[in-house]
Amino acid sequence: MVKANEGKTSPMMVQYQTIKAENPDALLLFRLGDFYELFGEDAKEASHLLEITLTARASGEGRANKIPMCGVPHHAAETYINRLLKMGRKVAVVEQVEDPKKAKGMVKRELVRIITPGTQLSPECLNAKQNNYLVVLYAENHQFGLAAADLSTGEFIVTEFKGEKARDDLMTEISRLQPSEIVVPDDLGVQLKQMISADGNAYLTELESFRFDPVSGKINLQEYFQVASLDGFGCGDLTLAIGSAAAALYYLTQTQRGTLKHMRNLSAYSVDVHMGMDNATIRNLELVRNTLDATQKHTLLEVLDYTRTAMGGRKLRRWLLRPLLALEEIQTRQSAVAELSETIKTRDDLATVLGRMHDMERLSGRIGAQTANPRDVIALGNTLSQLPEIKAVLRLCKSSLLSEVVTQMPECSEICALIRQSVAENPPPTIKDGGFIRDGYHAEVDVLRSLSREGKHTIATLQAQEREKTGINTLKVEYNNVFGYYIEVSKANAQRVPEHYQRKQTLVNAERYITPELKEYEQKVLGAQEKLVELEKVLFIEIRESIAKQIDTILSAARTVAGLDALLSLAECAVQNNYIRPQVGNDDSLKIIAGRHPVVEKLTGEKFIPNDVLLDNTTQQVIIITGPNMAGKSTYLRQIGLIVIMAQIGSFVPAQSAQIGIIDRVFTRVGAADNLAGGQSTFMVEMNETANILNNATKKSLVILDEVGRGTSTFDGVSIAWAVAEHLHDRVGAKTLFATHYYELTELALSNSRIKNFNIAVREWKEEIIFLRKIVEGSADRSYGIQVARLAGLPAEVIGRSKEVLLNLEKANYTETGKSRLAFHNQAGTEKESPQGSLFEKNNYQAIIDALRSISPDRMTPLESLNYLSQLHAKLKP
Ligand code: ADP
Ligand code: MG
Repeated sequence: MVKANEGKTSPMMVQYQTIKAENPDALLLFRLGDFYELFGEDAKEASHLLEITLTARASGEGRANKIPMCGVPHHAAETYINRLLKMGRKVAVVEQVEDPKKAKGMVKRELVRIITPGTQLSPECLNAKQNNYLVVLYAENHQFGLAAADLSTGEFIVTEFKGEKARDDLMTEISRLQPSEIVVPDDLGVQLKQMISADGNAYLTELESFRFDPVSGKINLQEYFQVASLDGFGCGDLTLAIGSAAAALYYLTQTQRGTLKHMRNLSAYSVDVHMGMDNATIRNLELVRNTLDATQKHTLLEVLDYTRTAMGGRKLRRWLLRPLLALEEIQTRQSAVAELSETIKTRDDLATVLGRMHDMERLSGRIGAQTANPRDVIALGNTLSQLPEIKAVLRLCKSSLLSEVVTQMPECSEICALIRQSVAENPPPTIKDGGFIRDGYHAEVDVLRSLSREGKHTIATLQAQEREKTGINTLKVEYNNVFGYYIEVSKANAQRVPEHYQRKQTLVNAERYITPELKEYEQKVLGAQEKLVELEKVLFIEIRESIAKQIDTILSAARTVAGLDALLSLAECAVQNNYIRPQVGNDDSLKIIAGRHPVVEKLTGEKFIPNDVLLDNTTQQVIIITGPNMAGKSTYLRQIGLIVIMAQIGSFVPAQSAQIGIIDRVFTRVGAADNLAGGQSTFMVEMNETANILNNATKKSLVILDEVGRGTSTFDGVSIAWAVAEHLHDRVGAKTLFATHYYELTELALSNSRIKNFNIAVREWKEEIIFLRKIVEGSADRSYGIQVARLAGLPAEVIGRSKEVLLNLEKANYTETGKSRLAFHNQAGTEKESPQGSLFEKNNYQAIIDALRSISPDRMTPLESLNYLSQLHAKLKP
């Protein structure tokens, strides 16, 4: 050994380190023979994550140069990669790109693919009914460009956010897209980065900021799409959008290494055409995920989803997160839903056809990415062959969306025919052993196939012949990997073997031979088989490429089918759950008669009590809802929000009748949202959400407040809640539902003309409280808590005393002249007056006030005070 070499890194490790240096944030899987190996820190991490053994390898000559290593067999790599992805890691795959047998010196290796959460294509990692978006953000002077790409379906969309609310709108859009990965420029502000990563579960990737350059980006995009300008995609002038799209394209080509065939076009969209819903609203109303365990159980989507295909499922989900604003568009969907809900036969026939269809979007995705196997191609062919069936089912339909399917959906018959002619009906799952090109498609395949079949047949004949010739009945012709075909004869018969047999191997009980004749057949069989497999692969890739050329057409059909499936789902849901078609209009009224909560009614069944609501901008704009715990306030509030959203996606709604003036944004503040993980206190979160509402709501918005100011002291809480309600009434003008346990807030109705009190009725019966679940006008009984305490068995003296204290407290709420102290204004107007005046004035309760002034409660016994209370009470009665 030459001592001087000690410590020198081996050439292969140099190769490894060069590639690793370019991809520091990915776990690098390095192909070495039959294994993918990981080294160094990657190896330590992967061995831990995958629970595989960590070993060490000499990285150069000399013992000192050992580095940690672990590996996974290449045939099982997919499973391991998927596990790493699910754990939120990026994986880079380095392959041997030349045959090791033919390589001179070290085998050439290349990085072939980087797999990231936002660019993965493995069906095992993707949620069938959810898009897997990669979102790319570009920021400039507080304005934003956003590109969203779903590599698995080929969707590539861009939009921009400008003006005062740019940041809020951006965050809303991100929560709607629920991306699995977000790419940002490395020089993006820290605050924004934090906001983005705190908001969802997306993996955050940083890219050099020059990749977002709109000028060079535009040229790259035009080149990629082979167009002279981006005007055709509706984004020729959208510099911000172009910046983000350019970076997206760069990132996708980087990770996919040039197999991006199915990203065929880009389309610009505007967030202004959809109802605004912030993250809190999507979460609180449990549209697509419940708040308990973030699954789809007990969500509105679960109730609405009767889709038969994964693409329909994804479409419905997108619709739900993007309710419409344009009346005409809503009515167009409604008409299709109505038509489908009227005829059971059309629904059933359509469901049957859709049920036979596979995920065309993701199948085309795999074809574009060149990962589709023969079974995928057959699945695509079978799916495409259903397109004419769909048209047949819908041929008599009148509503525009349904009749457009008949006139406009491509049938893809050419691709269908190609697949039918070329690929075998039940192909093996992989392409490594051949057997997937259909007989009769290609002359050479047929010849090789019969040769290889014939060869196998000949081997069998040969065995029979040799038995005959030698008279050895136990003679066998067999095959192994070491010396191919051979003849095996037992030791006992060995002396009867003819001269021309050449002995190859001696076993304990047998001898193995070969003959020239046998070897000749072997050449023929194996040669043919090998050539056949090679040829089949070449042909399959050709077929896949000619399908890839038609991906535009397939995707257009796929989108139509997805929309149809979503419409059918809404119709089926309407029929199954007894929904009605809401009357949607551009007026300002929101009137629901006998509305129900679509999710809760599924749980309570018949026992669900329907409720009405009326909200408008002139007489009843803000409704304060009081009632004890468990009365049903939260349910009532949410059901109204849900019905509005359902109506604006074109769905029917759970009610007897509904009249809905289009709502531009729905805001909710529900319960005590706990966001401690984000480092913010509950109260801070609550105030953030409230601020967002006050800053962004308009006259056309619906605001749902379920308790405001709970996370602080009572005085603070009441004050904030009071001011918020007043602000909504005086300034914002939004239709508002406000549930509260602060009884004080019912006094808002005294001084604000468009604020009305409602409560959810309960009745006391014997020793129980009965929840009637019915919303009625007026405020709840203020001493309700004390009644509950009495039922719970608190001593009579305590109950009496607490009633007295309650009265004292309430006395403090009013001025000498009986006006609400809470309503007092510190500005010129001093008191906020209303046409109705204060409660005390209206009812002339001066006598009671005087009576109360005359007593000294601390000198009374509980019994005395109770008696006194009932006397007072008696005076109230007319
Ligand atoms: P609150 O917000 O007033 O405390 P909730 O809205 O949480 O009350 O309702 C409590 C429970 O009452 C719900 O879980 C639901 O099962 C039931 N509930 C609510 N509204 C109705 C209704 N209209 N009909 C039947 N059950 C209801
Ligand atoms: Mg509640």
